[in-house]
Formats: sequence, structure tokens, C-alpha cells
Amino acid sequence: MAIEQKMEKIVGLCKRRGFVFPSSEIYGGFAAIYDLGPYGVELANNIKKAWWKNMVQENENIVGLDSAIFMHPKVWEASGHVSGFADPLAECKKCHTRSRVDHLLEDINVFADEKMSEEEINKLFGENKDKVKCPSCGKSDWTDVVKFNLLVQSNLGNFTSDWTKDPVYLRGETCQGIYINFKNVLDSARVKVPFGIAQIGKAFRNEITARQFIFRTREFEQMEMQYFVKPGEDMEHYEQWKARRWKFYLDLGIKEENLKWHKHEHLVFYAKEAYDIEYNFPFGFKELEGVHARSDYDLTQHAKFSKQDLSYLDPMTNERYVPHIVETSVGVTRIMLAAICDAYDEEKNGEDERIVLRFSPQLAPIKIAVFPLMKNKPELVAKAHGIYEELRKTWRVEFDDNGNVGKRYRRQDEIGTPFCVTVDFDTIEKDNTVTVRERDSMEQKRIKIEDLVTYFTEQIK
Ligand code: ATP
Repeated sequence: MAIEQKMEKIVGLCKRRGFVFPSSEIYGGFAAIYDLGPYGVELANNIKKAWWKNMVQENENIVGLDSAIFMHPKVWEASGHVSGFADPLAECKKCHTRSRVDHLLEDINVFADEKMSEEEINKLFGENKDKVKCPSCGKSDWTDVVKFNLLVQSNLGNFTSDWTKDPVYLRGETCQGIYINFKNVLDSARVKVPFGIAQIGKAFRNEITARQFIFRTREFEQMEMQYFVKPGEDMEHYEQWKARRWKFYLDLGIKEENLKWHKHEHLVFYAKEAYDIEYNFPFGFKELEGVHARSDYDLTQHAKFSKQDLSYLDPMTNERYVPHIVETSVGVTRIMLAAICDAYDEEKNGEDERIVLRFSPQLAPIKIAVFPLMKNKPELVAKAHGIYEELRKTWRVEFDDNGNVGKRYRRQDEIGTPFCVTVDFDTIEKDNTVTVRERDSMEQKRIKIEDLVTYFTEQIK
């Protein structure tokens, strides 16, 4: 399937079935912002639950945090975002589409360095710009490159008209909230190095390119874990985290052949090592998650700018040091897009065609759908409703009595529901059994109503 075709189908399915809606659609949309519909929010919640369980619940030395979106503006000076969080932008003179120059160059196998000054990137782009085509109109007529800061600004707490001189930023990443709470967590949570702080929350970036659906949005949710370790022990922890993060995706049901590691060749000066886990999106292998060894840069910077002591006293050895950090960082909707692309399948059985999202039961927005065979038979409807009421005490379950059963199966296939339960006349007249139909194999078996909870508990781990 062609790239555009697969993405178009996925975008169409996401809208049609209530996973993802373009923001403010009734006003003509709002670039690079999306809303999650009824099934999208379930999928995102399942991703967040799996991440939180994997990080916080299953590790005795990782604790959670929910820091505010707004922070003291000095945070972003200390972190280097005010001076250095900028992407290179050029505009097509023909159609006025703005593009990220490092990405345009990447497409022709020329690699820009993140640290390049505006002058340096202009020179590199100048040498190559005849070969670079505008992704919108295909022409090669470009403006000069300007570096554009990605931080989103606000007037929070500033009641003057020239607040842009002194802006408060919406956070560009969640981890800064973790660094500035390092001391608070250390003093309150009885943790000892090595330990981690995990956080899920919104981040905002003035992204230049507003293509690729929910892959890159201006408002997004990050899941970040910062692991504080003794200097000299970071690489050992780093290797463990790399292995654990890889396994996380396999446990979610993502196909291993669609994942690969990408090593950063041009490291920022403080980083010791940086790898990304990439996913094979329809538009190619792209970053899903970053796993980075960041040295003591973050805590040292905040200690310097806040003039607070952010060192750690080892209670066993009495050594004092600034911990080094191993970071894992990923976007919720980026995993969501990877999960949808990975699960998407079209299947032909003779004349019959179906679209199916083969989510693992853990990720599936709806785990079970319950149907009465016919809508106009009150005894079937009542029985099915009773089963629905019972099952939804434990799982996210849907009741559906619309149209014929075949159509109801197709609808559930398209949202990735692993099991459908149908109540028919045999249920009532004969043996109190129902038909359980499995999404992938489409196999049907009869199961006694009283055994359903045990059966699904086994299936939906
Ligand atoms: P890029 O260079 O592609 O703009 P980055 O490498 O600076 O991004 P990070 O700051 O490392 O990105 O972000 C960590 C993670 O957060 C990414 O791996 C991705 O999953 C997620 N993420 C970053 N930016 C966005 C965005 N605009 N939309 C959705 N998710 C994002």
C-alpha cells in the first residue's frame, strides 16, 4: 500500500470511529492540534496505565509526580530552552509553506547538526537547496533559514500589555518539572539513589511542520522518567533501561520487526549516550522514544540558576555528589499512532472484506461487546443487557443491538474489540450458553454465561 494511502486510511478510520478528531473542526480546524474521541481517550488511557504500571507500580524505587504546566521562567533559561530550543525554518517562496530545514535535508541524506548556528545551517542549506523540493508544491525556491524558538509563551500573571518582553512559558517538556522537584522528592519520599521520578503530562511546542497527523503536534502529552544514579554508574543503568524500554513495546503487542534503535551521532555536549527507539510508521522509521544518558547537566544547571544545593549525600558512604540522569521520554499520542499503524489490517475472505485493528487486549479501547441476536425480542435484549451489566463491572464493555450481527462485528473489528458475545435463542431456550467470537481468528465458541468472567479474566491479562 502506498504511504499516502495507508496514512489516509488510518486518518479516515480514526475520524470515522472516534479515535482522533481535528481540533476546532467546526471552525475550519486548528493546525497541529487534535482532540481524542471516545475510543481515542480509552486507547490513550490504556497506554498511560501500562506505562505507569511498568514504571511506578512495578519498581520500588520509582515514584510519581504531577508538576504544573507553568513554571518560573528561569527554569527555561537554566535548561537552555530560551537560548537554544530552536528549529531551523525556511519558507517556500511559491506556496509559503514553512518547513523544518533539518528534516528537508534529511530527506536528501544530508544531516544537519542540532547545535549549528543560523549562519552554519544557512550555509549547509545554501549548498543543497536546489535539490530540496517543497513537500507541498514540489518547487525549489526557498527563503533564507531562520532559527525559530519552539517555546510557547503566555501572559500568565502579567497584567501589562507588553508581556511578550517577560513571558511565562508553557512547558516544552515535562522533565524540567521533575528536576526542580528533585530535592522535594528526596526529602519527602524516602528514596535513595538510584531512584526514578516518573511523570505524565502535557507539553507544548511551536512545531514548524504541521503534517504527519498526531505524530507531531503543538500540544501533546509526554511520559518521562528521570533516573538519578551515582556518577560512574550511569552507563550500566543506561543499558538496563534500554533493554526495559524495548521490552515495554513488545509487551504492548507491537511487532518487533517494526522497531529499531537509532544511535545519535551528534551528541549535545553534556550527553554521554543517546539512542531513540524508532517505529516503522507508514512514512518511514521515525523516533518513538528517546533513551538518553544526560550526565549531571540538568541538576547542575538548576543548582547554578537557583543557587540551591541539589547534591545528594549518600547515607552509606557519606559521599556527596550531583546525581547523573538516565532519561526515558515518549509521547502518548506517538505510541498511539504506532499502535494503530501496527494493529491496522485489511482482510479479504472471498467476497467479504474487513478492516481490523489487531490491538492486544491490554490496549483495546473496548474489551468485549455484547449483542442480543435481535433487537425486537425483549427476552434476548434483557438477557444480553444482564451480561453487559455483569461484565462491565470489570472491563470496558459495549452493548450493541443495532443492525445485523455481521455489521456489529465489523464495527467492533474496526475499533479493535477482541471479543464479541451474542445472546441467541439457544441461550434462553436450551443451555444458558452464549456465542463468543474472537476478533482475529473469527472463531466462535459456546460458553456458559456463568463461566464468562473466568474465561475473559484468562484472555484479557
Ligand atoms: P524532534 O527533533 O523530532 O522535534 P526531539 O527529539 O526534540 O524531537 P524530544 O524532546 O526528545 O524530541 O521528545 C521526547 C519524546 O516526546 C519524543 O520521542 C516523542 O515521542 C515525544 N514528542 C516530542 N515532540 C512531540 C510532538 N511535537 N508531538 C508528539 N510527540 C512529541
